[in-house]
Amino acid sequence: SKRIVIKVGTSTIMYPNGAINLQQMEKLAFVLSDLKNQGKEVILVSSGAIGVGLARMSLTKRPVTIPEQQAIASIGQTELMSLYSQFFYHYGHQIGQVLLTKDVTDFPVSRKNTVNTFEQLLIKHVIPIVNENDTVSVEELDHLTRFGDNDTLSAIVLELTDADLLVMLSDIDGFYDKNPMKHTDATRFDTITDITEDILALAQDSSTKFGTGGMITKLNAAQIVLKAKKHMILASGEDLSILFRILSGEHIGTLFS
Ligand code: ADP
Repeated sequence: SKRIVIKVGTSTIMYPNGAINLQQMEKLAFVLSDLKNQGKEVILVSSGAIGVGLARMSLTKRPVTIPEQQAIASIGQTELMSLYSQFFYHYGHQIGQVLLTKDVTDFPVSRKNTVNTFEQLLIKHVIPIVNENDTVSVEELDHLTRFGDNDTLSAIVLELTDADLLVMLSDIDGFYDKNPMKHTDATRFDTITDITEDILALAQDSSTKFGTGGMITKLNAAQIVLKAKKHMILASGEDLSILFRILSGEHIGTLFS
C-alpha cells in the first residue's frame, strides 16, 4: 500500500502534565518525512488542538462553555500547525492544513472539493495534516456538523483519499478483550475481521485528560474501514519508529482487516 493515513491521539504528542511533547512531535515529523522519502503518500490526522491551546494559554483544564473551547481549539490549532510546519520543514517536507466538517460526508459537492484538495496536495508531494474544524462545529454533541472525534474522521479521510491503510496510534498497543488500564489479565487481539455487538461490548468508554474518544470511537472507525474493504492497525504511539516496522509488514498491535 502506497497511500497511508496516520492518526495520532492527543496523548501521543502531549505529556500527561499537559505540556507539548516536542520530542514526539519532532519524531513524528522525522518518521513521516522518511516514509515520504521512501515513496509513500502520507496523510496525518492529528488531534491535540485543544491540548496545545490550553498549554499555550497556561490553562490546566478545558473551559466549560463550548465557545471558549472553540476559541482554545483555534489558538491551539495555529500553534500545532506552526510546530508541525517547522519540524517537517526541517526534514525537507511541506505540509498543508485540511480542516473538515461533517459536510464532507453529507454534501457531494463538499466531498468532491475535499477529494480534489487532497489529490492536489499529494500530487505536489505535500503532507496533508487533517483535523476537525472546531470553529463551525456548533456544539460538542451536535451530530449535524461534528464527527466528534478524530478516530471517525481518520476513517473518513481514508475513504476520501482512497488510501489502503489507517494506522491509529494511541496510548494503548492494541484492542483487548477488556480495558487493560483497569484489568491486568486483559489479552490483546491480533486480528479482528468483524465489528460485532460482542466486540463493541468489550470497549468500555474511556476519557483521557485532554482527548476525547476512547475505544468505542476506534471501533466505529474500524467499522467504516472494514466496510470500505480497507485495513486499520491500532498500535501504540509511544515509540513512533513503530511506523517503519508496520509499513515493512510486521504484524504489530491489532489488525482490523
Ligand atoms: P487516544 O487519546 O490515543 O485516542 P483514548 O484514550 O481515547 O486514546 O483510547 C484508548 C483507551 O481506551 C485506552 O487507554 C484504554 O484505557 C481504553 N480502553 C477501553 N477498552 C479497551 C479495550 N477493550 N482495549 C484497549 N483499550 C481499551
